[in-house]
Amino acid sequence: MAEAKQENPLRVNPLGGMSQFRRLFAFVQPYRRRLAVMLAAVVLGSILSLAGPYALQFLIDAVFSRGDATLLNQITLILIGIFALQSVVYFVRGYLLATIGERVLADMRVTLFEHLQRLSLSFFNERRTGELVSRLTNDVTTVRGVVTADISTALSQTLTFIGAFILIIVTNWRLTVFMLVLIPLVMLIAILFGRRLRTLSTAVQDQLADATTVLEEAIGGVRVVQSFTREAYEVGRFRQSIQQTLLLAFKRIRLSSLFGPLASFMGFAAVISIFWFGGHEVLAGRLTAGQLLMFLILTLTIAGSIGQFSSLWTGLQEALGASRRLFEILDAQPEIADAPGAPPLPPVQGRITFEGVSFAYRDNPAGAAILTDITLDVQPGEVLALVGPSGAGKTTLVNLVPRFYDPTAGRICVDGFDIRTVQVHSLRSQIGIVPQETLLFGGSVRDNILYGRLGASEAEMIEAARAANAHDFILQLPNGYETIVGERGVKLSGGQRQRIAIARAILKNPRILLLDEATSSLDSESEGLVQEALEHLMRDRTSVVIAHRLSTIQNAHRIAVLEEGRLVELGTHEELMAQDGLYARLYRIQFKLDESPATTSISAADAGPVTTPRRRSFSFLPGLG
Ligand code: ADP
Repeated sequence: MAEAKQENPLRVNPLGGMSQFRRLFAFVQPYRRRLAVMLAAVVLGSILSLAGPYALQFLIDAVFSRGDATLLNQITLILIGIFALQSVVYFVRGYLLATIGERVLADMRVTLFEHLQRLSLSFFNERRTGELVSRLTNDVTTVRGVVTADISTALSQTLTFIGAFILIIVTNWRLTVFMLVLIPLVMLIAILFGRRLRTLSTAVQDQLADATTVLEEAIGGVRVVQSFTREAYEVGRFRQSIQQTLLLAFKRIRLSSLFGPLASFMGFAAVISIFWFGGHEVLAGRLTAGQLLMFLILTLTIAGSIGQFSSLWTGLQEALGASRRLFEILDAQPEIADAPGAPPLPPVQGRITFEGVSFAYRDNPAGAAILTDITLDVQPGEVLALVGPSGAGKTTLVNLVPRFYDPTAGRICVDGFDIRTVQVHSLRSQIGIVPQETLLFGGSVRDNILYGRLGASEAEMIEAARAANAHDFILQLPNGYETIVGERGVKLSGGQRQRIAIARAILKNPRILLLDEATSSLDSESEGLVQEALEHLMRDRTSVVIAHRLSTIQNAHRIAVLEEGRLVELGTHEELMAQDGLYARLYRIQFKLDESPATTSISAADAGPVTTPRRRSFSFLPGLG
């Protein structure tokens, strides 16, 4: 919405617009034959729409001037023929227009989606999901209008306009001049009114969007609202916002209620004036009654065309804005891409080496380093626990391994291969990731597990589910493996979702495992099952675990302690306790907290890059995180 507000139609560069249109027409290109047929229908339709009134004048004159019954019959037949042909042409035009439009729409969506899938994480960090979704839905629809409906309208209106004009000038130039004085006057008032109405409509929309934001916040944050007992405050906020919308809506209603009657009065007055002037021309013998009727019909046609042009212009501006937003996506280049000629990473043992790795997020205002000079060697098969206060950079460090981001200095090697020199796909295919919060896709449990390896057999999938301690609970679901989960399906508990994520990772069978342990507390039964599943998962793999549980830390071969982006301590639990540094201190605090009744997290909550919102804490003890 903020996007739309920034849009100033007057500032659209017409030349930039042209090149945008050229690019847009690339989408229509595959359907150019249909398009040509459609345009031919448009031309024919315009001619026929003029032929009707033209023939009509002879019909009237046959009756009133000549009293010729045979002529009357003939012209009636011709007119019926014209209208019949017109319907056929309109059908062809409408059908082709709609089908080409739908095809272009579908192609655009798929192209955009394909492109989005290739973009790097940093692109998504900088944009809101809702905005991207809106581009794929609303903007695409707006743009579709231009490349199909609008060109057809522009062509047909231009042709009709020119044709009608020539016809009336030829018929009676005096009346044409009279009409030329009258019409602009009426149009001007209509346009001024229209513009004001549009501004007001936009204002109403924007105001409504503000109210929607309040709504979204209050619904999304209902827990916060209720915990602070701020219901009345939120209602007040919403009411105020709605009140504003109402006031603007009233303003618009006043204007639009006035507009309708005024416009119809002006229209009728114009018609009668033309009739009056034309009547005198008829009396003077310079015009027949039939010609006067044709004149009136064509005048209305011309007025209609002018009206269409103005709305066409607005549509064009909107579409330019929408298409610019679409091309912005299509022009975004994935930051993380294969180096030219990069070979695939061969199957690895799973040794990970960080060599002097530093990193800063691009959008970080201060450009502050999030990671500084990390040097760390993780052996094949080792379980390394990452611990440290919230915001220390644990998630960021883990995200560098699958190249979600590239380090700003230093390098990361897997089995001695600098990961920037091999194909990204081959690297990621050997890495399994189990995030804190598991996203289940809308689909069956089976689909969700198979996401780990699409080609896996039924037996392999069930084996993975068993190893992840998920098989038993899955069988108890209403439809077993076919049960639909995700947004619209059965709601699973946190522990169940985690076990499905683990099954997914086991099925993928990667050499390297990156694990962000859930901080949310699970009931003790679930806790044990998840723990056991994780042990299965980590067996014989190199695992880097952002650890929150004591059991994980105790089972880890080594513990790496991060503080403000630096690796401050590295060793086993015993070694680090003996060092009596940060690790020992945090460990003791955690114990103390555990004994005191008011258990609080020692670090502030913050938002992470991969899963938001999430709770962050440094905790060792099961169920405490
Ligand atoms: P941890 O996992 O140890 O809690 P993170 O790696 O998530 O720490 O975050 C480290 C720092 O980087 C924090 O200050 C956080 O605010 C910042 N940060 C995390 N993700 C992003 C992002 N996508 N863009 C900018 N800053 C980020």
